Amino acid sequence: MKPTLPTCEACSGQLTWTQSLRAQRFFYEYTYCPYCREKQYINTHKKHLSVILLAAVSPLIINLFIDLSIVSSLALYAVIITIGFVVTPFAYSLKSKDPILAKRGNSA
Ligand SMILES: [Zn+2]
Repeated sequence: MKPTLPTCEACSGQLTWTQSLRAQRFFYEYTYCPYCREKQYINTHKKHLSVILLAAVSPLIINLFIDLSIVSSLALYAVIITIGFVVTPFAYSLKSKDPILAKRGNSA
């Protein structure tokens, strides 16, 4: 699966990396397209998200095997947080319709 930046379903405009990062609001399930102002639902790719989560806990796992000093663990965390920020815009796509509601509609 090739990592791509989210594209608006309403106007087919592709968000830039900065727009995608800004559009990703962690406690909201929707955002607004910066081009056409259409409401767009955030559809997070579960696979990408689990990779990010795994990366976030990896220093703890490494710490079990190697006794890292506080300074090196902090440096490791800084690197991981940076990588996390770089990849999050690729970890979701935009949908014009609520993906959860659409699923419910199909089964009913
Ligand atoms: Zn749009």
